[in-house]
Amino acid sequence: MNIAKIVITIDDGHDNVYTNALPIMEKYGLVGTACIITSSVGSTGKVTTNQLSEMQNKGWEIASHSVTHPLMTTLSEAEQRIELADSKTFLEQNGITVNTFAPPSRDWNDISSVYAEEEGYKAVRALDITSTPTEPYPISNKLYVRHGSTSINSAAHSPIDVFNWIETAISEGSLLTLLFHHIRDVSDNYSTSLSDFEAICAYLKKRSLDGEILVDTFYNSLNATLKKLENEPSERILLSDRNITI
Ligand SMILES: [Zn+2]
Repeated sequence: MNIAKIVITIDDGHDNVYTNALPIMEKYGLVGTACIITSSVGSTGKVTTNQLSEMQNKGWEIASHSVTHPLMTTLSEAEQRIELADSKTFLEQNGITVNTFAPPSRDWNDISSVYAEEEGYKAVRALDITSTPTEPYPISNKLYVRHGSTSINSAAHSPIDVFNWIETAISEGSLLTLLFHHIRDVSDNYSTSLSDFEAICAYLKKRSLDGEILVDTFYNSLNATLKKLENEPSERILLSDRNITI
C-alpha cells in the first residue's frame, strides 16, 4: 500500500501566499507549491522575486503558472511555447528552480504536454475538476496530472470537506492535490480564511504524525516512492517527522 501524498498548491502569486500561507504552514512544518504568473511578479498585491527566493529556500516549490495566464489550448504552438519558456526563464534568472507547469484554468491537452516537456518541464498539474479529487499512485503521466481538488474557498468548503478528501486519499494510497488561490479573510469564491487554512494545516500535521500521509511539494510528491510501513510504528513516526520538520 502506498502512503497517501498530499500537496498544497496556491495559484496566481498573490502576496498573501507569502504573508499568510507561508507563516501558517511554517508553524505546522509544511511546505507547498506556489504557482506563479510571471508577468505580475512584483506588482501591487503580488509576490516579489525576493519572496519567491525565500520560499524556495524554506523548501517550497515555485511552479510556472504561465506568463500572462491565458487558456493554453486556445493558443498557437508558438504562443504556447512562449508562455512555457519565458515564464520558466524569468524564474530561473531569479534563482528559482522550475520543474512544474500549472496551466491556468486547468486548460490542457496532450499536445500541450509535448510542448511542456520540450520546453524543459518535468511535471504538469492540469487538474480536471469534473473527476475525483484523488489521482491514483504511482502517477501514469507526470506531464498531465489530471486529478485534484476544486479551488478551495471558505464560501463553498468547510475544513471537514478537505479532511474527508484527505481520508479518501489515505484509504486509496493516492495523491491529493489541494488547490487554493487567496489565503485571506475575504468572502469570495477564491479565498480561504486564515482559520480554515490553519485548521487544514493542523489536520495535515496530525495525519503526518500518525504516519498516514506525506505532505510535500507537487514535484517531490510525484517522485516519492515511499510505501506505508504497516508493522513498524516507531519508524513511521520518524518517517513523518522527517517530512514535516524541514
Ligand atoms: Zn490561475
